[in-house]
Amino acid sequence: MRILLVEDEPTLRSQLQAMLEQGGYAVDAVADGIDARHLGETESYDAAVLDLGLPGLDGLSVLRAWRDKGRTLPVLILTARDRWSDKVTGIDSGADDYLTKPFHPEELLARVRALIRRAAGLVSPVLQAGPVVLDSRTGRVSCNDQPVTLTGHEFRVLEYLMHRPGAVVTRTELTEHIYAQDFERDSNTIEVFVGRLRRKLTPDLIETVRGRGYRLVSGP
Ligand code: CA
Repeated sequence: MRILLVEDEPTLRSQLQAMLEQGGYAVDAVADGIDARHLGETESYDAAVLDLGLPGLDGLSVLRAWRDKGRTLPVLILTARDRWSDKVTGIDSGADDYLTKPFHPEELLARVRALIRRAAGLVSPVLQAGPVVLDSRTGRVSCNDQPVTLTGHEFRVLEYLMHRPGAVVTRTELTEHIYAQDFERDSNTIEVFVGRLRRKLTPDLIETVRGRGYRLVSGP
């Protein structure tokens, strides 16, 4: 899963970026509204965390620009304590949720998880496919009740597929959702990650759909 983080306050931005990365996400962090608008229009994100007061272009204009372009990514806006009217305007402009500053980092993570889950039509933070269980709250993965250690990229591939059980996901799509923008991407490595996931978990968990991509087999 890949998140766009837009926050102009440097300390808060790096704190949030570190926390989201710790939560298992690939994160693109920007400080400027113009950059944010561009990235949200051109890159593939599973959610965005968007501050409202930004240099270049304010957060509400960024959000409206995304929605005008038909970008449906879930958006969590960050607002200052005394600007309750921002929340109303934000939600009316297409935000999915908001958080008032200052906030507890854990709450931000929980809300981001919930937005991603809802966008995938899932209700539980604990995802299951056959013997494999992924707890998105803790980042823990188990197979037949045995804990399994995954690398960051393996985890992101698995989490992405587990949010789309039964759907065919192309290698390009996976590539777009597991790497941050500045990371050197190589869609061939997706095959390597899938191979490792099959070895570490169960061989028939991820099916190769020839010429199209991969599908998570959700049955037992
Ligand atoms: Ca700000």
